[in-house]
Amino acid sequence: MSKLQPENWQSKKKILVILAHPDDPEFFCGATLARWAAAGHEIAYLLLTKGDKGSDDPAIEPARLMAIRTAEQLAAARTLGVNKVDFFDYPDGYLEPDLEMRRKIVRSIRKERPEIIVTSDPLNYYIRGKHINHPDHRAAGQVTLDAVFPAAGNRFFFPELLDEGLLPFSPEEIWISLTHEASVVLDVTEYWQTKINALICHASQIGEAQAFRIAMLERRTADSRPEHPRYEEGFRRLFKR
Ligand SMILES: [Zn+2]
Repeated sequence: MSKLQPENWQSKKKILVILAHPDDPEFFCGATLARWAAAGHEIAYLLLTKGDKGSDDPAIEPARLMAIRTAEQLAAARTLGVNKVDFFDYPDGYLEPDLEMRRKIVRSIRKERPEIIVTSDPLNYYIRGKHINHPDHRAAGQVTLDAVFPAAGNRFFFPELLDEGLLPFSPEEIWISLTHEASVVLDVTEYWQTKINALICHASQIGEAQAFRIAMLERRTADSRPEHPRYEEGFRRLFKR
C-alpha cells in the first residue's frame, strides 16, 4: 500500500488492549488488530473477566465456561497474530470502575509500558443505536481511561506501586473502540476474513459457524457492493497531553 496510513506511526508500537470479555477484542476491532500485527506491532491483551456468564445453558458450570472461553480467546488471539493474553479474575457482568480496579490497571500499564492502548467507549449505551450495550464494556472503558490519565503517569497515584519498581508512564495514544464518535476509520477489508476466522474460535459464543460467517460478511460498508465489499473499523483516537 503506497498511500499514507492513517496511524502515521514512525516506529513499531507496543499495543495493550484492555477490554472486558473474551471475544471483545475480536468483535470490536479484530481486523485492526490483525492489520497491526501484520505490520509488526506488538500486541497484548488484558481482559478483565473470563466471561463466566456468557451462556444461557443451565447445565454449564461457570468454572467450565471460563476454561472454555479462556482457550477460545487464546486461539482467537493467535489467529490475529497476538501472542500475549492476560486475564484478571473479576466476575463477568459486575465490573465497576472503582479505585481498586484502577490501581490494578495502572500497575499493568506501568509494567507493560505500551505506547498505544485500545479500550471501549464508556459513553456508548446503545450498540448501533438499537441494542443495550453491556455495562462491562462501558465500565472497562471508564476504568481504563481513568487509569491512563492522570494515574499511570503520576507518581503520587498509588505510591505503593513505586515500591514495586513501577515508575510513572503515559501512553502516547488511546484508541477507543465500540464508539459512535469515531475520529478515525480504518479500511480493514484486507483483514476482514482474519477477523471472522478469529471470531469463529469463540465457538461457545457465535452459534452456527457458517451462518455467523455470512452475517459477518454482510457487515460491509453502505457504499460498497456485494461483489466488492469494503469493511471498516472506527475508533475515537485520543493523544497524550
Ligand atoms: Zn463483551
